[in-house]
Formats: sequence, structure tokens, C-alpha cells
Amino acid sequence: MQPSPRIAIVGAGLAGACAAFALHRYAQVEVFEATDAANQAFRATGGLFHPLMTRRARPNWQHEAALRALEQLLADVGDQVPVRRGLLRVAFDEKQAADFQEAARTYPHWVQWLSPEAVCDRFPQVQAPYGALWIPQGGAVSAVQLIEALLAHSAVPVHRPVRVIDWQERTREVQLRTDQGATYTFDYVILAPGYGYQQHPELARLPFQAVKGQVICLTCPPTLQPLPPVLASVHLVTHGTFLFVGSTYEPDFTDLAPSAARTRQLLKEAMRWVPAVAESTVHNALTGVRVIRPTRPLPVLSPLPGRRRLWLFSGLGSRGLLYAPLLASWLPEMLSHPERLPEPVRLC
Ligand SMILES: Cc1cc2nc3c(=O)[nH]c(=O)nc-3n(C[C@H](O)[C@H](O)[C@H](O)COP(=O)(O)OP(=O)(O)OC[C@H]3O[C@@H](n4cnc5c(N)ncnc54)[C@H](O)[C@@H]3O)c2cc1C
Repeated sequence: MQPSPRIAIVGAGLAGACAAFALHRYAQVEVFEATDAANQAFRATGGLFHPLMTRRARPNWQHEAALRALEQLLADVGDQVPVRRGLLRVAFDEKQAADFQEAARTYPHWVQWLSPEAVCDRFPQVQAPYGALWIPQGGAVSAVQLIEALLAHSAVPVHRPVRVIDWQERTREVQLRTDQGATYTFDYVILAPGYGYQQHPELARLPFQAVKGQVICLTCPPTLQPLPPVLASVHLVTHGTFLFVGSTYEPDFTDLAPSAARTRQLLKEAMRWVPAVAESTVHNALTGVRVIRPTRPLPVLSPLPGRRRLWLFSGLGSRGLLYAPLLASWLPEMLSHPERLPEPVRLC
């Protein structure tokens, strides 16, 4: 990168916040976020991370580097973001139990197999009739707190609520136009708009898909403490006095409103794995949208097709915590050397 380039980041979600943190020492960074801070406070995400996130508990692409990058980020922001260490991945049928046992044999340094009896001894609140994997390097963090901490540590200007509505790439710069009628000029622009990609024709024609998800927030009954982060047919994560249960996968959605039927479905599933959930009351329901690349289930960090200064950082799917820190850590070097980006994350 040339000395201290001016870089705009569009979107202050996980991707945008990680990018701002990775770049702030090397560049003059400014962030544009369409929503106000209050809207961010209840972002729907489980906050789970672990290295074997596939259905069959196989290692994810670049899983070791990805976990290292996340751990480095958590260390950099200090104790501002509490981390729940360890994750219990409960098998939801016999077939998955067989896959999990094989994973435990193949990757003993990552996961440990717990029989139903062992789960009962160690985590009496949890019912695991088919057994479970214990993943010590996994865990849960609040994505909202992490985003806030990253932006605070970067100390970069955050324009909010300001929506970027248009861009023009020229030979030496990119011009951004906002919904406030202002125009800004930068050397590079990193678009990290999550679901907002659909509002921009240049992004809407890329091969992404949006999948809505619902999470419910419950009061946490005292009998549940201490409950490790649990992942089964739903996830259960305690944050302070709240228990978050999620999430649904709804590719064909027509609006972003939470649904009462989905809330009932989540509650029913949660009670199947942790019966004490029956003692809690629903506080509220939240929805969010994951962006995935159906043709290739890996995130994207890449110049847009035919562009040099306009980049896209997206497609994190359900693995935002695993992948956003890793991909962001490549930015200082690769922004001026896109040819060095690993092929799987490039758009072209
Ligand atoms: C229900 C649910 C549960 C999940 N659980 C987990 C989990 O347990 N673990 C995990 O790792 N991941 C999880 N995820 C996925 C994770 O939340 C996403 O991968 C991550 O949020 C994606 O981050 P992002 O920055 O790409 O997008 P977003 O978080 O959507 O952020 C994009 C931001 O850009 C802003 N924006 C959009 N357009 C514009 C514009 N034109 N101008 C200015 N700003 C704009 C938006 O307002 C938004 O703040 C979950 C997702 C959902 C929906």
C-alpha cells in the first residue's frame, strides 16, 4: 500500500469493523454505517465460533489460521469482550453421532467425544441422547460487543446513520455519494454491506443469496448457570442474565419481522436439549440476514469484477466470527497486491 492511503469502509458489521481495525494503523480510515447505534444493539447472531463448523464436524477452510486471527483480535481488544470458552456440539441423531465420533478420532487435538453418560456427568442441564463433541477451542462472544470494541480501538471516524448510495471508480480514486447528499473521495473503498448488497445493482448481480434467521432472547433461569455454549439443532448461549436461542434458516423470506411460529419452534427445540428452558420467559425475538455464496460456501474478499479500488468483503454466512478476522488481516498487504489473495475468496 502507498503511505497512508484514504480508505472508506461501507458497513460497520463484523466485516467492516474487522477491516477498520486491521487497516487503521496503515491508512486514514473512515467508516459509513446506514443504521444508528441503537439498531445495532440487538443484532441477531449466536456469537458462536469453532473450527469444525460443517454438519459432519470436518475442519473448515483455513480453520487454524482463522481461529488464530480471532484469538489475536480478542487479545488486542483486551478484556472488553467477554469470551465463553468451550462449546458443546450435541449430536442430533445417530448418523451425526457417528460423524462426530470419527471427527474425535481424526482430530483429537481439536475435539473430544462425550458419550451420553459423560455429557450427563459434566453438563447435567443438557440432554444428549446421542452424545456430543466437546470443543475446547470453540466458544461464544457477543458480536455486538466485539464490533463496538474494534471500532473504539481503531478510533476511526464512523459516519452514522449515513447510507452510501452510489460510487464511481476513477483512475486514481473512488467517489462515494451518501444519502445525506455529500460526496467523499478515497483511494480505496471496501464494501462490507452484508444484506445491503441487494440495494446496489453492481452487487445485486453477484452470485449471493440472503438467508433470514431468527433468534429469541429469554430470561435465563438460575438453574441453567453455568451452561456452556450449546450447538444442536438450535444453539443456546447465555450472555449475562439472558439466554439466546437460535436460529432458523429461511432462504425464502418476504420480510424481516420475527414470527411467533418460529419463536415456538425455537423454544420447542431448545427444550429438547436443555429442558430447564421451560422455566424461562421470552423477552424478545430478533432477526438477521446471512449472506452466502451458494456456488462456493466461502467468504469473499476481492476487488469487484473489473475494478481495482472498489473491494467487496462479504459472504460470511454463518461463520462471521471465524472468517472476518482472518480475511481482514490480509487487507493491509493485499489491498495493493490483490493477486496474492487466495483464489477461493476472490470473485474473479
Ligand atoms: C440468526 C443468525 C445467527 C448467526 N449466528 C452466528 C454465529 O453463531 N456465529 C457466527 O460466526 N456467525 C453467525 N451469524 C452470521 C454473522 O452474523 C454474519 O456472518 C455477520 O454478521 C456478517 O457480517 P457482515 O459485516 O458481512 O454483515 P452485517 O453484519 O449485515 O453488516 C453489514 C452492515 O452494513 C450496513 N450497510 C449496508 N448497506 C450499507 C450502505 N449502503 N451504506 C452504509 N452502511 C450499509 C448495515 O447496516 C450493516 O450494519 C449469524 C447470522 C444470523 C442471521
